Amino acid sequence: MSLLTVGSVAFDAIETPFGKTDKIVGGAGTFIALSASNFVKDQRIVSVVGEDFPQETLDVLSSKGVALDGLQIKKGEKTFFWSGRYHNDMNSRDTLVTELNVLENFDPIIPESYQGADYLMLGNLAPAVQRQVIERLHTRPKLIAMDTMNFWMDIAMDDLKQTLALVDVLIINDEEARQLSGEYALVKAAKVIRAMGPKTLIIKKGEHGALLFHGENIFFAPALPLEEVFDPTGAGDTFAGGFIGYLAATDDISFDNMKRAIIAGSALASFCVEKFGTQRLLEISRADIDARIEEFVHLTNFEMTTVIG
Ligand code: AMP
Repeated sequence: MSLLTVGSVAFDAIETPFGKTDKIVGGAGTFIALSASNFVKDQRIVSVVGEDFPQETLDVLSSKGVALDGLQIKKGEKTFFWSGRYHNDMNSRDTLVTELNVLENFDPIIPESYQGADYLMLGNLAPAVQRQVIERLHTRPKLIAMDTMNFWMDIAMDDLKQTLALVDVLIINDEEARQLSGEYALVKAAKVIRAMGPKTLIIKKGEHGALLFHGENIFFAPALPLEEVFDPTGAGDTFAGGFIGYLAATDDISFDNMKRAIIAGSALASFCVEKFGTQRLLEISRADIDARIEEFVHLTNFEMTTVIG
């Protein structure tokens, strides 16, 4: 099945306790597309870059089956730039610079060839832009998933609520779930958020895994305990890309398959954090991914006999 991915294609500059980078390729859309491409072979991206963006990266995306007809290249303009510094715990970070550049007036044009996409992943962008994409599709995809962040809750809550009412799956972290719902306990928060629209909610808890709320069911997926997290940038997007890519490839949106999709997303995210930016995602093979998924299975698999009195 086909996947339409919408999200930033960007330059990032990252500082972690392990080192720092100059401008490297990043962006939520880039991480989602690269991650999903491990499962889904018919992917289309809607995004915008400036004239300064490397053709080489666009060629890599093409080589992974990502159609670029909806990726606008703005002559004489600059690509979105984000810079962040991670604290020692590698969970929290400060944004140092956000230069919107081409994203400032982004008009997400959907080429005719993209119509009829089966699955839609809306990466973290202005909620009004995310909604525009949904409204511009002639037929509703089988499943619409979206990501968002605190920033939009602070400055565009009404817009965000309108978009939330249109999507099937929301993927956010625990802090964002608390802010969006006004509830501290995540089970309560999930109830409030799902009443806003998304019938399925995934709450990511960084190194502590992710919770899936779907119908009456809750599933918990661990994160792989890693010796070293080198750079967490894009881990959330990589997780989302693996999740939706797996669902699109298997074309099954049941709860049981969503559990598998969450493990697939977690496995890909565990690779993403091993090197700066997209570097590690560009190196891994299908065999690497399968082996890592197997590690997840072993991590949580145990046998137990009931001890009676
Ligand atoms: P994550 O680590 O999953 O939160 O995603 C990091 C990616 O999001 C980076 O590669 C940034 O380029 C991108 N990003 C950061 N801020 C924004 C924003 N306001 N809009 C769109 N993309 C962003």
